Amino acid sequence: MEYSFEAHKIIGGIGADDEYWRSLENNEFRLPQCAKCGKWTWPAHFRCGDCGSWDFNWVKLEPEGNIFSWTRSWYAFDRVRERTEDIPYITVLTEIPEADNARILGVLKGDDTGIQIGLPVRGSIEPPSEKTKFYPSITWEIIR
Ligand SMILES: [Zn+2]
Repeated sequence: MEYSFEAHKIIGGIGADDEYWRSLENNEFRLPQCAKCGKWTWPAHFRCGDCGSWDFNWVKLEPEGNIFSWTRSWYAFDRVRERTEDIPYITVLTEIPEADNARILGVLKGDDTGIQIGLPVRGSIEPPSEKTKFYPSITWEIIR
């Protein structure tokens, strides 16, 4: 079975970030930048909070940034039972300097030795799966 976020939209939202998920499904990392004033807007909105424009460019970026925050999960929460086998796992909130430090969530993969705020990480785009609620996702790995 092929998964796609379009077929499995189960997370409530206004749809302003649909292009984000579409780009990940195309193996690209894109974030919205106002076409009029250049402000990065993340989480996505339909309208620029600075200038009021409705036009955004979804700019292709390298999924690289720095750890803004992280947490280790030791417990299989009800809404993410699909990750039970991964426990303990680390979730990272990464700042993307190229996009005015927009913050992107993802699970950490690889060696977590010495993990701390500020460390550089690189993202890999993962295809949709049951584990990701049928959405494509980014996993982060510490750049050593
Ligand atoms: Zn603007």
